[in-house]
Amino acid sequence: MTQVNNIELLHWLDHTLEAHKFKDYCPNGLQVEGKTDIRRIVTGVTASLALLQAAVKHNADAVIVHHGWFWKNENPCIRGPKKARIALTLQHELNLYGYHLPLDAHPTLGNNVQLAQQLDLEPERDAQGQVIGCGPDGLVWLGRPKAAMTRQAMSQLISSRLGREPLLVGNADAPVQRVAWCTGGAQGFMEAAIAAGADLYITGEASEQNYHLALENNVGFIAAGHHATERYGVLALGQAIAKQFGVEVEFIDVDNPI
Ligand SMILES: [Zn+2]
Repeated sequence: MTQVNNIELLHWLDHTLEAHKFKDYCPNGLQVEGKTDIRRIVTGVTASLALLQAAVKHNADAVIVHHGWFWKNENPCIRGPKKARIALTLQHELNLYGYHLPLDAHPTLGNNVQLAQQLDLEPERDAQGQVIGCGPDGLVWLGRPKAAMTRQAMSQLISSRLGREPLLVGNADAPVQRVAWCTGGAQGFMEAAIAAGADLYITGEASEQNYHLALENNVGFIAAGHHATERYGVLALGQAIAKQFGVEVEFIDVDNPI
C-alpha cells in the first residue's frame, strides 16, 4: 500500500501552498503530530469533532482542513469540546494539518479560484497572468461571469452549484458586470470590493451592515455560506495529494448551514 511520511507531506504542503508568505490568525502546517506513515487521508472544511470521528471511522492516518485549531485570541485551556477533539486526535495518532489563508489564496487549488470555477467566473488578470485582487492581502478577487446574467440568475446558479440557497440583497434584476468575491467570513471586505468597482460582492457570511451598504451603494450582495464556499479548496488539495503521492484521500463534507 502506498504511503507517505508525515514530515515529507508537511514539506510538500508548505511548499505547494507557499505557507511562509502569509501572516495568519492560526498556525499553518502540522498542528498535531500523529503516526509517521500516512496511507489514508481525510480532508474536510473544519477540524470539528464530527469530522475527526468520521476520519477515525475511515481508518485515516491524517486529517487536512481549512479551519484547524489554535486561533489567535482563543482561550488556550484544553477543556470541553477542545479537550474532546484533542483527546480523540492523540488517541488515534492522527496527524492534523491546517491551512487557512494559504488555501484561500492559492492560484489553482485555493478556495477563491475553485469557487470561481464552480460559478463560471472569469478572474481578471494583469499582463503577467496574476489575478487582480483587492482588500487585505489581495484576498478579494475581481472578475466577470462567463455568460451575461442578472443578480437573480447568479443567485440561482449558486443555489444549484453549491446546493444551498444564498441570501441576495439589492436589485435582483440588475445585470452583473463586475463581480468581487472572497470565500468564507469576508463580509467585512465589502467596501474594498465596492471601491475596486464591483457591482456584486459574493462571500460566505453576512453581517447587518452589508444590507445597508448594498442598498446605499446600489450594488448587489450575496452571502452563499461560509462552509459552502470553502469546500472546494481542500477538495482540490486532496486530489493534488492523491496524484502526487498515490495515497488514498477522501473528502468528507460534514454539513454546516452557516
Ligand atoms: Zn473560513
